Amino acid sequence: MLYDSSPQKEVVCPNCGKVVPPTKRCPNCGNYLPRKKRFDFEKLTVGEILLLILGAIMLGIGFVAL
Ligand SMILES: [Zn+2]
Repeated sequence: MLYDSSPQKEVVCPNCGKVVPPTKRCPNCGNYLPRKKRFDFEKLTVGEILLLILGAIMLGIGFVAL
């Protein structure tokens, strides 16, 4: 088992389409691979961002009221 310590599975490079290990850069074409984040703010829609802001404001008001 060479890749026993690797917690992630292999990823597909969006640039060349090859299945590569989850590294920072693709070993095949050398392009940067997209990192898998738990919370991707770039992919949030405007509505979700507004909801987040609203939630934060509500929390702030709650803390001030207490
Ligand atoms: Zn690639």
